[in-house]
Amino acid sequence: MGSSDVLTPAARAALERLLGPDRLRTHVPLAPLTTFRIGGPADLFYEARSAEELARAVTAARDLGVPFFLLGLGANILVGDLGFRGLVIRNAARHIRVEAARHRIRAESGAIVYPDLIDAAVSHGLSGLEHYAGIPSTVGGALWQNLHFLSPPPERARTMFLEEVLLEADLLTEDGRRTTVGKDYFDFGYDYSILHVRRDVVLSATFQLEPAEEAHLRSVIRANLQWRAERHPPLETEPSAGSIFKKVDGIGAGRLIDACGLLGTRIGGAEVTHRHANIIVNRGHATAADVCALIAHVQAVVERETGYRLEPEIAFVGEFAPPTSTPPYTVPKPPGVLTARERIALKKERADPIEKKAEGDDRKAE
Ligand SMILES: Cc1cc2nc3c(=O)[nH]c(=O)nc-3n(C[C@H](O)[C@H](O)[C@H](O)COP(=O)(O)OP(=O)(O)OC[C@H]3O[C@@H](n4cnc5c(N)ncnc54)[C@H](O)[C@@H]3O)c2cc1C
Repeated sequence: MGSSDVLTPAARAALERLLGPDRLRTHVPLAPLTTFRIGGPADLFYEARSAEELARAVTAARDLGVPFFLLGLGANILVGDLGFRGLVIRNAARHIRVEAARHRIRAESGAIVYPDLIDAAVSHGLSGLEHYAGIPSTVGGALWQNLHFLSPPPERARTMFLEEVLLEADLLTEDGRRTTVGKDYFDFGYDYSILHVRRDVVLSATFQLEPAEEAHLRSVIRANLQWRAERHPPLETEPSAGSIFKKVDGIGAGRLIDACGLLGTRIGGAEVTHRHANIIVNRGHATAADVCALIAHVQAVVERETGYRLEPEIAFVGEFAPPTSTPPYTVPKPPGVLTARERIALKKERADPIEKKAEGDDRKAE
């Protein structure tokens, strides 16, 4: 299928005129633009380099009736193998401004949370964003999801949410208005904001931070990066979209998946990694069809064994081929890899009070 299916030649010419013929590209592979490294091409593709370009591209697509998808870092999505029929707008509007005297930082919505935004804040001695170090995200994606992570060690007392430091955001609303809204507008929840149901586009956001010692903030960042390195498969060699399923009744999906003996289950190139039961990794040649078949298999086994129905937390984008029909099989745990259960048991054995505390962290972080 080609772009002609969603676009008349006149609409295509109008889009080129509005966005620039050299900037509007066709048949652009989306896999390299996602952390899963999976997915077919976008019929049409445009990279917005400023909030103004982002607003212009969204407005043009809406006015011309062209279906569009707004792509951040692609860290919370699975793109279908058949790609996207319409225009993918990649948000590369990354300008960041620190207002040190007011302890504020303002960023265009394509700004990268870590390292760019967090480094800018921390190097000005501003606290509130350091908790999210190591999470792949743009500012827009972070608001869509209400980015969250544990509070600093050793207590790791609670889950912190990005909403806590959001002061206001500039939007292009679904009805085409430019407006500034406060955090209440977003109706934030766990893995939720109003952006899940309204087609508003975040153009930029301002965060209200607190002054703090830069050395302390850097130590929080180091601890959080280490926490991730110990628990998560490295994106460079084991691409993923982070956690696949939502919590159910407050129970981490990983706990249920592990209890059902699903670690190491593989379909095609998609695998429930031994490192983290709620993460599916791309073993290098995975298709979206493999991932969808594995998701369905995990859902069916967990529901049969525990009665809980797991729901994906990632977004599904574009056109999907039928799920892979080859049966699942289990791969052995690679040498040197610790499962979550083994890691917790090892820490208990060491009986270190801080490590004991970390057992609780594992439960909260799922
Ligand atoms: C290894 C790994 C670890 C992770 N760990 C965590 C974690 O600890 N905590 C956590 O909360 N998440 C985590 N995630 C999930 C992911 O990082 C977040 O959901 C992140 O916020 C996604 O941002 P993105 O820019 O990649 O958005 P994308 O995946 O590109 O897009 C997600 C959705 O947001 C929409 N969107 C993007 N920009 C805008 C905008 N400007 N306006 C309106 N809508 C927009 C998109 O259209 C899409 O619907 C992890 C992911 C990975 C791969």
